[in-house]
Parts: sequence; C-alpha cells; structure tokens
Amino acid sequence: MALRNIVVEGDPILRKKSRPVDEISPRIIKLLDDMAETMYLDNRGIGIAAVQVGVLRRVFIVDVGDEHGKLEFINPEITYTEGEQTYCEGCLSLPGKSADVERPEKIRIKALDRNGNEFELEADGLLAVCICHEYDHLEGILFTDRAKGEIETEED
Ligand code: ZN
Repeated sequence: MALRNIVVEGDPILRKKSRPVDEISPRIIKLLDDMAETMYLDNRGIGIAAVQVGVLRRVFIVDVGDEHGKLEFINPEITYTEGEQTYCEGCLSLPGKSADVERPEKIRIKALDRNGNEFELEADGLLAVCICHEYDHLEGILFTDRAKGEIETEED
C-alpha cells in the first residue's frame, strides 16, 4: 500500500464526473488499498472518493467508526432516500472548511465490492451523510455547493 496525495479545492479534477469501473483489475484493488491508507493514516477522514486522489473512477470508501467498519463501494447507485437531517460536514479536499448540509436521513445504496459481487446496504445517520457526501464527489459536487448558511473556515 502507499499513501496518495489528496487533491484539494481549486484543482479542476474535483469538478469532473467520475467514470464507471469496467473491470475490477489489480489497479483498482491497489487504488482501494491506497485510498484506505491515505484516509486512515495520513488524514484521518471518514470517507474518501477516488477523485480525491486524482482518479476519475466511481469508487469510494467510508468508515464512520460504527459496526460496519470500512465499506468499499464500486459503481454505486443510491436507490432510495427518505427524510432529512442536517450535519456539519468537512472534506479532506477542503481542509479547514465546514458547513451545515442537509442530506437524507436514510438511504439505500447498491454497489459492487472488490470481488465484483453486488451488495445492497441501508444506512442512516452519519453513515448516510458520509455516503451521500462521497457519492457527490463522483458527480463533481462538493459539500460547500449544498451548504445551508455560512461556510466556516478554520486556519491550521
Ligand atoms: Zn469530501
């Protein structure tokens, strides 16, 4: 595994739409492993999308520290949403920024795992927030686009 550099706001790649993975090749497996290492060790995030390490593929990882542990999503589709909740979000690609964002309270998502098997997951609370945030990255959307009210900026 290897740490990868996080792409930060201002880089136009963050605004591009990611393409589906057509084959779960060793490169994709390495990408997943590297993304996890980058998320956990370097930056302590709870989610990371491939575009955040400069790869425009529909892949993301989340780990909100609950019983699910690390979840990997390849070619995800959100199939159902319900309700709403507001959470103060941040992003590895927008260091120091945070804002309240409204998201669904509950979602269902289907995706492929690293073995190419389709799975479906129901999520609520923070896990739903995190999945929706990462899914947005695949579409070139940043949480600040959805901010309710002010975007807070904190200097390191
Ligand atoms: Zn983000």
